[in-house]
Amino acid sequence: MSLLHYRHGAHLESYRRTAHIRDEAAYRALYRRSLEDPEGFWAEQARLYLDWEKQWDEVHHWDPGSARCRWFAGGVLNAAYNCIDRHLERHRDRIAFYWEGEDPAETESITYGDLHDRVNRLSAMLRARGIGKGDRVALYLPMIPALPVSMLACARIGAVHTVVYTGLSPKALASRMADCRAKALITVDGMRRDGERVPLIPSLRPVLAPLPHLETVLIDARMDAGFSPDSDREVLWGDAAADPSLPEFVPPEPMDAEDPLFILYISGVRGRPKGVVHTHGGYLLHAAMTTRLVLDARPEEILWCTSDMGWIVGHTYGLYGPLLNGLASVLFEGEPESAEPARYGDIIERYGVDRLCWTPTEIRFARNGGALTGRDLPSLKLMASVGEPMDPETWEWAYHQVGGDRCPVIDAYLQTETGGILIAPLPGAGPLKPAFCGQPFFGVDPVVLDDFGEPVRHPNREGVLCIRRPWPGMARTIHNDHERFIDPYFNRIRGMYFTADAALRDADGDFRMLARVDDVIKVCGGRICAAEMEAVLRLHPEATDAAVVRFPHPVKGEGIYAFVALDAAVHPSDSLKETLLRHLREEIGSIAAFDVIQWTRALPRTRSGKVVRHILDKIAAGNVDDMGDAAAIVDPALIQDLINGRQTPG
Ligand code: AMP
Repeated sequence: MSLLHYRHGAHLESYRRTAHIRDEAAYRALYRRSLEDPEGFWAEQARLYLDWEKQWDEVHHWDPGSARCRWFAGGVLNAAYNCIDRHLERHRDRIAFYWEGEDPAETESITYGDLHDRVNRLSAMLRARGIGKGDRVALYLPMIPALPVSMLACARIGAVHTVVYTGLSPKALASRMADCRAKALITVDGMRRDGERVPLIPSLRPVLAPLPHLETVLIDARMDAGFSPDSDREVLWGDAAADPSLPEFVPPEPMDAEDPLFILYISGVRGRPKGVVHTHGGYLLHAAMTTRLVLDARPEEILWCTSDMGWIVGHTYGLYGPLLNGLASVLFEGEPESAEPARYGDIIERYGVDRLCWTPTEIRFARNGGALTGRDLPSLKLMASVGEPMDPETWEWAYHQVGGDRCPVIDAYLQTETGGILIAPLPGAGPLKPAFCGQPFFGVDPVVLDDFGEPVRHPNREGVLCIRRPWPGMARTIHNDHERFIDPYFNRIRGMYFTADAALRDADGDFRMLARVDDVIKVCGGRICAAEMEAVLRLHPEATDAAVVRFPHPVKGEGIYAFVALDAAVHPSDSLKETLLRHLREEIGSIAAFDVIQWTRALPRTRSGKVVRHILDKIAAGNVDDMGDAAAIVDPALIQDLINGRQTPG
């Protein structure tokens, strides 16, 4: 990788006139203060960005030994109140969401007033079903208005929402619901697949049946297919909403800043998804601040965060961040990969989108489609690229061709566990470097460590990114399993948050994010754990062994390459490949579809049985000239067989 980079600042002169932070000195002064006087800094920010019913007892508490962290404990607030009610007096008629269906003819404009009415109605419906503070409610909904309404209704009554991405299968949904003992599920009767509506309830019923804690399945019947509930626990949204005894207003539940707001599951080893827990106080502050200062948004603007709300980016920049700042958001039902590239431009134009938050995969997809190149999009003021490593060529294309050298392109780094952006350049602070995430956000104290756990001293040397102290938006735990929070995140390097991301810092101190050092694969902004896929593949009776690795994919950034060992009696075939794909889809979801499969007689293992992954990584990436040290492999002849059997992606 060339470390030569150019700085781009053509946008700066005009952009700075309106930026919240207008130069590097202003950033540096505030950043220094956030580290030197964290109590004072965060107390000030918390008062500025959020409305509190009661002030906190202590700003911050951190016990590195137990990885227990609190922000603003004792403070009382409500997320839905902060997102909606407090804007009503002055901005009841301001748009909160422009919704556009997969079919462009289907649209809705939802004002803050409408949102308030819908959220209150649903809050009353949930209350009437006995759902209240602390109860877990799963949401399995496509990108339709019911999704943000449901998230906010849960927040209003103090229930903990857990949104499950609809690209995950009903089985994956059920395993998440079992883990958090969800009392209710809000879903739809059918999902769109390639333009068709496919009924969902028949595949949901069998997987939901064994869940003893599930009392209510609230179904938004969109398919109009004469669906009828088959038990007391299934309720049609329309029927429940029509109950005349429901109050029109549900007072927002007073929540402690440290009460959980949501659980967002990330892929773990099969059967054990990890429920990342975020809280009302710290998370909301991080979401509000980064939306305002990194995305540089202001209330009269329109933000389009293309991420599904089933991911952290969708939670933070599709819902909470924009609403906390009084913005309008675009909510688009279509999936990035299935939408026409021109659709991006059409939506930006139709709604006058000011700020676009998308992924490198989408940018490459739009670039390949050709439809956006040089298209005049005068409303656009900023683009943020989130969720995956960016490459300089893609960055350059977005800056010149989509942004016309007017719009900063902000490469912003975050994780589900970080709640929001941790490292990103501030758009008014200085020139931008393609594919560099720039500087840490306020209060974030990052360090790149070498293999010995020592800070990397020389610029441009790779290491692992760790964060030396907690920030308000940091996850608090893994639901019901704090050990799984301590071990991977705080025990690797004592007392520091271990990101599992490789990074480097250049001579200016700017960060460049590289790749995961563990087995997490990022596909089109989604996150999947190779171990989970491997466990599912191994379960299939025809497969004797399986390993899954990533490889560089020209559009998706990372692709999934599966090595599957078969019994000698089983012959590889296209139909077996389809069977395995179906198996993965059923057990995990469409996100787990491999791009390439290579059949093999065995996997390269050491005597102790460990798969030698660096060999598989090299084969998947096509770097087969030097396979490195193969001495530890039990069956060295296997390597040549694997090289000979390599499949070319595409
Ligand atoms: P998720 O939890 O799904 O948001 O995925 C988090 C992971 O996405 C991180 O650990 C990184 O590997 C990757 N990621 C997120 N943002 C960036 C970025 N701007 N550059 C490089 N990788 C990123």
